[in-house]
Amino acid sequence: MLKIFNGVNFLDTILNVIFPVHCVLCGKEGSDLCLKCLSDSPPALRESADWIFPLFDYRHPPIKKSLWFLKYKNKKRLAGIFAEVMYGKIIEELSELSVMKNFQNPVLIPIPLSLKRYRERGYNQAELICEELVKLDSNSNLCHGVDVKTKRNFYLEKNVLIKIKETEHQVNIKDRRDRLKNLSDSFSVKNPEIIKDKNIILIDDVLTTGATLTEAKKILKSFGAKKVIAFTVAH
Ligand SMILES: [Zn+2]
Repeated sequence: MLKIFNGVNFLDTILNVIFPVHCVLCGKEGSDLCLKCLSDSPPALRESADWIFPLFDYRHPPIKKSLWFLKYKNKKRLAGIFAEVMYGKIIEELSELSVMKNFQNPVLIPIPLSLKRYRERGYNQAELICEELVKLDSNSNLCHGVDVKTKRNFYLEKNVLIKIKETEHQVNIKDRRDRLKNLSDSFSVKNPEIIKDKNIILIDDVLTTGATLTEAKKILKSFGAKKVIAFTVAH
């Protein structure tokens, strides 16, 4: 009985009994995209900055559709499925970075929504993915990051990077320079002591041009962050 409630909320569980959801690809019950079909999806191949690690190709319709479900349709269960694949990738990269570049005890930071958009939507999809990553990490024996005492690979900080300016949707702006201009000064940092001299892992759902992540990295660095890398579900 306990297992049913683990990780999903009660209402979600009830609704799923009455209206079961199925994987859009294989039809398996339980989620709009199952872990197997997600894992088999085409990887992100388009070029991105060397500090950004996207998982899947956004042009693959089930990826696009399930990310849209997570972002706008309250399909929070998908965050756990994306996080499972992302966790493996993070651990893989951390094992190298911690040795080669002294990238230790990183802080996990989700790309924030503005307060206005957060209130409209009720949740931040990047934050949900981060919360699932932390759950996976606390159940995992894979240790690279790493705090010897707690054996955790990273810590989540939701109260550091904040979005202070409502910006136009990036998808509506075609020119890259205009996108960067749209984003400039859109983020700020609260509690800078938390990130001073710390390594940072930024988490977002979709990488488009990289303008959002670049702007977030810039502001974190200006407040004293050490090295910043980022993971996204798709590109
Ligand atoms: Zn499936």
